[in-house]
Amino acid sequence: MKFGGTSVGKPERMKEVAKLITKDEESKIVVLSALSGTTNALVEISTSLSQGDRNTANQQITALEEHYQQFCGQLLTKPASLEKARLIIQEHFEFLHIILKISFSEALNKDILAQGELLSTKLFSVYLDEIEVDHMLIPALEFMTIDNYDEPQIGSIKIKLSQLLQRHKDKQIFITQGYISRNSKGEVDNLKRGGSDYSASLIGAAINASVCEIWTDIDGMHNNDPRVVKKTVAIEQLSFEEAAELAYFGAKILHPASIWPAQFYNVPVKLLNTMDPEAKGTLIAAEAGSAGVKAVAAKDGITAIKIKSSRMLLAYGFLRKIFEVFEKYRTSIDMITTSEVAVSITIDNDTHLPEIIKELEPFGTVEIDTNQSIVSIVGNEITDTEDVMQKVFNALKTIPVRMVSYGGSRHNISILIGRNYKEQTLQALNVDLFGLE
Ligand code: ADP
Ligand code: ASP
Ligand code: MG
Repeated sequence: MKFGGTSVGKPERMKEVAKLITKDEESKIVVLSALSGTTNALVEISTSLSQGDRNTANQQITALEEHYQQFCGQLLTKPASLEKARLIIQEHFEFLHIILKISFSEALNKDILAQGELLSTKLFSVYLDEIEVDHMLIPALEFMTIDNYDEPQIGSIKIKLSQLLQRHKDKQIFITQGYISRNSKGEVDNLKRGGSDYSASLIGAAINASVCEIWTDIDGMHNNDPRVVKKTVAIEQLSFEEAAELAYFGAKILHPASIWPAQFYNVPVKLLNTMDPEAKGTLIAAEAGSAGVKAVAAKDGITAIKIKSSRMLLAYGFLRKIFEVFEKYRTSIDMITTSEVAVSITIDNDTHLPEIIKELEPFGTVEIDTNQSIVSIVGNEITDTEDVMQKVFNALKTIPVRMVSYGGSRHNISILIGRNYKEQTLQALNVDLFGLE
């Protein structure tokens, strides 16, 4: 059971979590995020430090510490638990104050970002003690590992986690941190923003869980982005493939990589609402449940690269040479469209863009469009569903579309547009595909 930031963000919400995890007798691992707002606050502290602005960092640390003191004042009642919580807060904020004196580095940044999940789990554990819920806190830093390329090492996670669980066979409830991990150098690291979902899925896969429940602040995966579009509805069931596409293409409710471990080990995932625990939510399993379009999602920060060359005409090996450039810089490609004389490619990570452009230039003219968004239409067998393309093009009639990708899989149609057309596009698709105004 994974609980996100808002699900633990207020003392009364955290108490609700305690009720949800004690509802039945089943053994479970409970994965917690940091309290909502904490990771953002830690990012700000890190940014101030990286800019050498210690005064601001100091103020930000103090404000965050006050927030935790207030939080515990409302969460706990017994003097002994209040004292335990005071010591936990002191330990972690002393650490933050000490780092003010150390020179900033990427490793230090990761240490700072880890404080949120360490705090939330320790404080929750104090609360469980206070209300006499037997449990065991297991440190994610002892089993969650990533390799040189930031990829989780599922084999090693499995071994380390089962050893930890073996040592505490008498326990039924285990609490651990989402998001944080150890890297190949043994340093504290993380699974990137929103990574607690990924932690939960990896843990579910590692222990072969009967279900991986992702508890959040909405009643499941909706058909469209509720932050952008007014009227959206929850989806009852998605296949792993559909959910993976939605997560990867921007549905914030799931971390982009969070579906593959569950899919690979066939662990069903349920998206549930802490604010409305009785709501059905969304089941993600091997079967899609139904055919047709299920949802649309959008991913921002996309760069499109066009390589144009008449030498491409009737040539073979051209695409291989282009792809090799992206491989060399470990930059993954999302969308591809080709014509006889040009190829357009999108990437979401432009760290190595200057080097990539330089190496592509010998192949032809290279054009770059930044600040693009991919809008993905996801469903089951959608390419076989009647009228889908007609409805999509109808919705897009006033929108300048840069690329269209159709037929790559049966689950996805992707469209590339300028970021400033995203809201209009999602709204128009909501009307034409789902009949929701
Ligand atoms: P948590 O802190 O629990 O991990 P997140 O904020 O990461 O929660 O994810 C939940 C949020 O995702 C929702 O509040 C909603 O605004 C947003 N979201 C974006 N797209 C979707 C979608 N298609 N379905 C449901 N929620 C979505
Ligand atoms: N606390 C982390 C974040 O805000 C991880 C998570 O919430 O999933 O990104
Ligand atoms: Mg999240």
